[in-house]
Amino acid sequence: MERETDRPLAGHDYPRGWDELRRWFPDEAACLAYLERLRWGTGFVCPACGALGEPWRQSRGRLTCPACRHQTTATAGTIFDKTRTPLATWFAAVWYVTNQKLGVSALGLQRVLGLGSYQTAWTMLHKLRRAMVRPGRARLSGEVEVDETYVGGVESGVHGRETYTKAVVAIAVEVQDPAGFGRVRLGRVPDVSAASLVPFVCAMVAPGSIVRTDGWRAYNQLATEGYRHERTVLQASGDPAHVAMPGVHRVASLLKRWLLGTHQGAVRPEQLDAYLQEFTFRFNRRRSRSRGLLFYRLLEQAVATDPAPYATIARKR
Ligand SMILES: [Zn+2]
Repeated sequence: MERETDRPLAGHDYPRGWDELRRWFPDEAACLAYLERLRWGTGFVCPACGALGEPWRQSRGRLTCPACRHQTTATAGTIFDKTRTPLATWFAAVWYVTNQKLGVSALGLQRVLGLGSYQTAWTMLHKLRRAMVRPGRARLSGEVEVDETYVGGVESGVHGRETYTKAVVAIAVEVQDPAGFGRVRLGRVPDVSAASLVPFVCAMVAPGSIVRTDGWRAYNQLATEGYRHERTVLQASGDPAHVAMPGVHRVASLLKRWLLGTHQGAVRPEQLDAYLQEFTFRFNRRRSRSRGLLFYRLLEQAVATDPAPYATIARKR
């Protein structure tokens, strides 16, 4: 589970259900006030000059810095920057995305929100996926299994159509004693060489942790990077992969099933990173009893995430 530093209260900090959501956020002003609280709950900080202190308030949620007169809003510089979609629709989308256990496709979101365009739904989902990784999150620790898997790879050989090659995804998952799994980290890597896999482990797992891998030689230098490296050579152990490495085996099969089920496998390699972020967000919060808290967390991260214009998101689409 992601560690929480503060504990927001249901019914006070976030809505307990759909009806409460609609009552709390009937219009743009109510949504904007909520985002302002999530972004500057501990006090306004001017995005231009960094000055602290109460801003001057103008109409339509505009705030002016008393020090440098810079004008801003709670959505400026976030994934909601310059959006033409009403914030109440965004809030409904966040509610829907966090309430569906397996997530939602762009087509599903377009239908449930009654959006006029598929592209709008697709762009909203991709912006939300970008917000699903918490900045400054902690590295995994304790006992961690690491392995690679291959995903994608459809439409090969059909003349005149796009072909995708399979992408390599590195997996790190905490293994708990006596059973069960903790947090997961995923990353797309160019290949299965040491030059690709070792930096992944260093970025995702804290030094001093026990790292379990199979016998693949690319992992040999982990011991020199400050890890306690335990290798399981599968043929020698006699155990099948799902017994010897249960964590990565479980995560890999859940990931593939999710990509096929929710997204019909239609994930281009360039967009895989965003899907890996969504999978990680869901997996690491799978035991959260409150869907409303997920709504709160995703909006909180959304106002801490830089905007990405459609052209950047849809690059190579
Ligand atoms: Zn300022």
